[in-house]
Amino acid sequence: MASVTLSHVDKIFPGKVKAVSDVNLEIRDGEFLVLVGPSGCGKTSTLRMIAGLEEISAGTISIGDRVVNDVPPKDRDIAMVFQNYALYPHMTVRDNMAFGLKLRKFPKTEIAARIEDAAVVLGLEGLLDRRPKELSGGQRQRVAVGRAIVRQPQVFLFDEPLSNLDAKLRVQMRVEISQLHARLKTTMIYVTHDQVEAMTMGDRIVVMKEGMIQQVADPVTLYDKPVNQMVAGFIGMPPMNFFEGKILGVGSEARFITEGFTLPVPELKRDLLSAYDGRAITLGLRPEHIGSTAAEQLSDPHRIEAQVEVVEPMGAETYVYARVGGAMFVSRVDPHANVGVGRSISPAIMVDHAHFFDPETELAL
Ligand code: ATP
Repeated sequence: MASVTLSHVDKIFPGKVKAVSDVNLEIRDGEFLVLVGPSGCGKTSTLRMIAGLEEISAGTISIGDRVVNDVPPKDRDIAMVFQNYALYPHMTVRDNMAFGLKLRKFPKTEIAARIEDAAVVLGLEGLLDRRPKELSGGQRQRVAVGRAIVRQPQVFLFDEPLSNLDAKLRVQMRVEISQLHARLKTTMIYVTHDQVEAMTMGDRIVVMKEGMIQQVADPVTLYDKPVNQMVAGFIGMPPMNFFEGKILGVGSEARFITEGFTLPVPELKRDLLSAYDGRAITLGLRPEHIGSTAAEQLSDPHRIEAQVEVVEPMGAETYVYARVGGAMFVSRVDPHANVGVGRSISPAIMVDHAHFFDPETELAL
């Protein structure tokens, strides 16, 4: 087990594509760290630099106390699981799992013992003599994880390992990988573009955009205290609603005003927003803070008038897409709430949970 440290790491591809800019990150020994962000944000390049599959343009990467910038991948004591599993099609599951150990000249008995152990952990006992084409997607993914486990590396790297699986299997494998981490307690670095995967699996999450780290935090902090509008909009499903408007007044008189509704500025934010009197601002409201059971139970709720356009029953809750002024928003309401398409509603707003962003810098206020 080992920590991994990235210090001022850049990746510039030929043609001057700057894929990663000044990444500073300390991944703790035994931590499950998730790199998440939209397509092209540089997460795979970051992971591949840690693996040694991609050269570092600037900065240093250390695994434990050792700077590994010039250490070839095979000597970094890491194991990587890829999106496409990268199994050898002509080899059995057993041989696929044994391959890396044979290359490293492990004794046969040791290899057999490690494969047996991994097969038990991953439920692959009955499949060791099959070839990859005789396995389901989920089983192939388990073999790819098994091949990494038998190496007993200091660090596991996962590059979107669940992308090729159907929705149900993704959820199952997500839980299995989390259980594996709990059991092995080895440092794991996991790349995904799926914020649900990030939130459910990561001890900490790194949100990236355009090659730069936006925020590093545990899931709850990321959700409750996003540092900017990108993080606020990326984390959470359905996503946070944004309303362009302006602030008028200061202190207890301060109001957020936009087309179709006005809300008081919550007490906690009044000092911060006093500088915005008369200026443009972006309001962010999570779907569960509009018309939810908790919102409707407030003793003195602030309400907005809206028209329902789409209703999505999810079972445990219902997503209501509605229009207020020129803006659409989504709220997360009780599944038994009486809402129908075309109806007028006046949902309660949990003003104390409102987020505010500077429209120019997009930073949270
Ligand atoms: P995705 O989720 O789509 O895989 P990502 O966040 O993992 O995206 P990277 O694959 O790290 O992003 O790519 C970051 C940027 O670097 C992108 O603009 C991409 O086009 C560019 N890039 C990646 N690999 C290369 C390469 N070999 N040569 C040139 N540019 C590259």
